[in-house]
Amino acid sequence: MFQSTRLKLTAWYLCIIMLISIVFSVTIYRIVDSEIQRYVHRIEHQRHDPFDSPPPLVTIQDLQESDQRLLITLLGINIGILVLSGAAGYFLAGRTLRPIKDMMDEQNRFITDASHELRTPLTSLKSEIEVYMRGNHHTANEADTLLKSNLEEVNNLQVLSDNLIQLAQSQKPNGNHIFTDVSLVTVIQTAAKKLNIAAKQKSITIESEIKDYSLYGDKESLIQLFSILLDNAIKYSPLKSKIKTTAKNIDHTVLITVVDQGIGIEKKDIPHIFDRFYRADTSRTKQVTSGYGLGLSIAKKIVNMHNGIITVKSEPGKGTTFTIHLPSKQGDA
Ligand code: ADP
Repeated sequence: MFQSTRLKLTAWYLCIIMLISIVFSVTIYRIVDSEIQRYVHRIEHQRHDPFDSPPPLVTIQDLQESDQRLLITLLGINIGILVLSGAAGYFLAGRTLRPIKDMMDEQNRFITDASHELRTPLTSLKSEIEVYMRGNHHTANEADTLLKSNLEEVNNLQVLSDNLIQLAQSQKPNGNHIFTDVSLVTVIQTAAKKLNIAAKQKSITIESEIKDYSLYGDKESLIQLFSILLDNAIKYSPLKSKIKTTAKNIDHTVLITVVDQGIGIEKKDIPHIFDRFYRADTSRTKQVTSGYGLGLSIAKKIVNMHNGIITVKSEPGKGTTFTIHLPSKQGDA
């Protein structure tokens, strides 16, 4: 598909260049030829009246040979242009189509990954219902268990579809994002409030040591960013632990950290945790989470959208620190 489109585009480039070149050559040939013919007529005229003017410097044969040479030269130039522009057009067509091809490959990968993730809860739902239907006499208890399990799978599907929508939205270059001055404290407090119940369930306290810096960004996206980080911190932390958020302003950059005392991330997983659908495949994380590996890739896209940087430091068994560098509102020191 890529190759045939590249060839078609090359053919279009060639058509345009050759059309220009041929029109140009024909025009030059016509002009020069009409001058030659004029000169030929003058020489013929002088032949009939040799005393009227001095003898011509060139003969009619010379002129006709020049005419032929011009024709051959123009033909040669056009063949040269055809070959050169064919090669250059093929190269340029490749470069023009490369970003489109990369985007399509990325989209196909995304669809494959998403379908793969969707298949697991759907297969589980289907097989549970099929097994139930095969039995004849069902007790109310069995029906109850089935419905509970089905509801769990439906919830998983809902989480996945919400994540996919959030990821798609964070990938839109300027979609639905309103950039204004945003208070960092408001953002962190709103995110922490959203996760209050989850934190309480594990008796985790979220401490915040933040001066109110002003950021220039999309408030909803920033709340989502810190919700993802706090949600992970809660998910991967033991009961009764602490999560701390801090912020400082250095050279027009606000450095925000989210520190937890959780299970940490293995060194080998750190380069991949921001990849879409990546989950650290350890028995430790499996015990505590039912995530889809989309949170941090959404977080990274939000940080990128704000021209920021997100980094992570972690020690297995001790905890994890995510640091976000965001440009502060202009004018803030
Ligand atoms: P998930 O939904 O699986 O949490 P994320 O993209 O948010 O997906 O995170 C990717 C992986 O990074 C997780 O599966 C987990 O292994 C690791 N991770 C993220 N945050 C933390 C954290 N605070 N502590 C330990 N591991 C983490």
